[in-house]
Amino acid sequence: MSDLLTKLAKAIAKEKIKVIDLTQTLRPSTPVIQLPPPFAPSAPFSIEEISRYDDKGPAWYWNNLAMGEHTGTHFDAPIHWVTGKDYRDGATDTVPVQRFIAPAVVIDCSKEAKKDEKFLLTPKHILAWEKKHGTIPKGSWVLMRTDWSKREDPAKFLNMKEDGPHVPGPNADAVRLLVERDVNGWGVEAVGTDAGQAFSFEPAFPAHALMHGSNKFGLASLCNLDKLPPTGAVIVTAPLKIEHGSGSPLRVIALVHDED
Ligand code: MN
Repeated sequence: MSDLLTKLAKAIAKEKIKVIDLTQTLRPSTPVIQLPPPFAPSAPFSIEEISRYDDKGPAWYWNNLAMGEHTGTHFDAPIHWVTGKDYRDGATDTVPVQRFIAPAVVIDCSKEAKKDEKFLLTPKHILAWEKKHGTIPKGSWVLMRTDWSKREDPAKFLNMKEDGPHVPGPNADAVRLLVERDVNGWGVEAVGTDAGQAFSFEPAFPAHALMHGSNKFGLASLCNLDKLPPTGAVIVTAPLKIEHGSGSPLRVIALVHDED
């Protein structure tokens, strides 16, 4: 078995296995999900210099950080939602670490999302994908490619309108089907795992209510999903080990076997 890991390390060093960063850069302008009152807002990302090779620290540079757990590219743990609150292995510090390394399949919805900012992924789309690529394997991440991460203007990324955000996502039946497939979690390029209009769905916010209610994870604000194959990638998604944390920003890294 040690041979297997040696081969893996060599393949990475030789770029036979490509390492792809699915993470957005954290900065003060990083868009944060906006909730209507009376709900409490999440703090934006902020960074404050402690010292930078100066009187406060002549040989070292470092910063203090502040942010909500759900800022930038981030992980949603099952206890994030009331439906998952009782999972003892559902917090950032209690999730079995094995679940932080898992295969990922990518459903390309970029054309649909370009045409319709409120595009909803339905079971019909998932079944059509499965007809082409095979049944979604148990324990996989399912990532929805929309190219939403290419919206560099934070206002266009959040896309808030009078009737709430216009952002693509899954409908409730699509999430039910993914839960049936026993996936590891659901990941998107948008600011949250649910569609912009998901407050009006039944149940409301199904990618949270149903996924976390089944002890499954979420990933939001991913990028570079256009660089992944539909099947075959493995992603590493370890959140910070915050005691009883509901999620955390993280670096999401994909391993992709370069076949040629
Ligand atoms: Mn979140």
